[in-house]
Amino acid sequence: MNQIKMFLIKYAEIGIKGKNRYVFEDILMKHIRNRMKHLGDFRVRKDYGRIYVEAPDTEYDYDEAVGILTKVFGVTGVCPVTVGEKTRGELSNAVIRHVAAFHPNKAFSFKMFVKRCDKDFPGNSMDLAAEIGGDLLQEYESEGLRVDVHTPDVLITAEIRDQIYVYSMVLPGPGGLPVGTNGKAIALLSGGIDSPVALYMTGKRGVEMEAVYFHSPPYTSLRALEKVETLGTIVSGYAGPIRLGIVDFTKIQLAIYDNCPHDELTIIMKRFMFRIAEKLAEAEECQAIVTGESIGQVSSQTMQSLCVINDAVKMPVFRPLIGMDKQEIVEYSEKIGTFQTSIQPFEDCCTIFVDKHPVTKPKLEVIERHEKNLEGIIEPLVDAAIEGITWKVLKEN
Ligand code: ATP
Ligand code: MG
Repeated sequence: MNQIKMFLIKYAEIGIKGKNRYVFEDILMKHIRNRMKHLGDFRVRKDYGRIYVEAPDTEYDYDEAVGILTKVFGVTGVCPVTVGEKTRGELSNAVIRHVAAFHPNKAFSFKMFVKRCDKDFPGNSMDLAAEIGGDLLQEYESEGLRVDVHTPDVLITAEIRDQIYVYSMVLPGPGGLPVGTNGKAIALLSGGIDSPVALYMTGKRGVEMEAVYFHSPPYTSLRALEKVETLGTIVSGYAGPIRLGIVDFTKIQLAIYDNCPHDELTIIMKRFMFRIAEKLAEAEECQAIVTGESIGQVSSQTMQSLCVINDAVKMPVFRPLIGMDKQEIVEYSEKIGTFQTSIQPFEDCCTIFVDKHPVTKPKLEVIERHEKNLEGIIEPLVDAAIEGITWKVLKEN
């Protein structure tokens, strides 16, 4: 497939943003450039409100190129394009070459569509479409190719611009908005199924993402941390590089364990995770915190628990999975490719310090009263945890 020298990038939502459109397009182009860099000398350019990615003359990995382009947030579709010189003869040749390369099985119906963007090109679009369709049919009719102008299996488009561009299929992208067009947030990223999906969904809305993981060595292993890094890296394949802050949470957890009722451990721990995340968010100029919580999934995610946890911070907390069933989240994680990593059995700090009968309807006053037991003990631990944070940039390639 290395004859493909160009991809046409489709992007829906950003097309409707009026004046901002240019900003959005430029950001999308920057992301595409960055993500393709390691694959070769790809040129990304804009022309008449279209984004084109031109492949280098040298060999490149077609499957990898398509794999990357179809993951960038903001891209709704990627069309591999066959390019030809702008002559009448080349118009039919380019269409035939394109069909030869992309449709090994020729038993399908098609409709030929010509866009004469260069009005100096002789002929009119309808006539040209009929002529080229005829040439194509002559080439492949014996292999089962046929015309259907009402409900074709394949729409073949030939655009006449500075050159001839032929495409016939749209490989779907994730959609959404280019990362960086909607502020910045920090996600609480654990090794579970949910938070990587929450990270993905927020990034998909154009939010630049950072992440924080609360690590509790020796209660949680290096493998658990590596799993979180792998998950963040998979999501970075869509969202671009993600900075991950690794917080050593052990001393904080032990202090809570030693000084607070055990049935409230999870709630109090989460409140400290939120407080630390908020401090990091402020320092990193993030406008919101993101978690993978969903109402009623576990005891710390009952409505009452979520409210009490939420009360620990002022910053908005976004929970993109709030209304989703576990099965729906699983399907999403399979789709984005995080599921197989998420189900690897490495312990989570919360499962180790978890009580057999955690509160499901915590009361804020009660929790606040018990947190008073930590006064004078926890503040230096929180400061030290923030001071000792390790940052890593997660990047797929
Ligand atoms: P997940 O599948 O995302 O791990 P979960 O169903 O296991 O979620 P909880 O363990 O209650 O649920 O965690 C709820 C949310 O709290 C997670 O989605 C994540 O955003 C955050 N969280 C939990 N543990 C950690 C951790 N060790 N580090 C960072 N964030 C965490
Ligand atoms: Mg979890």
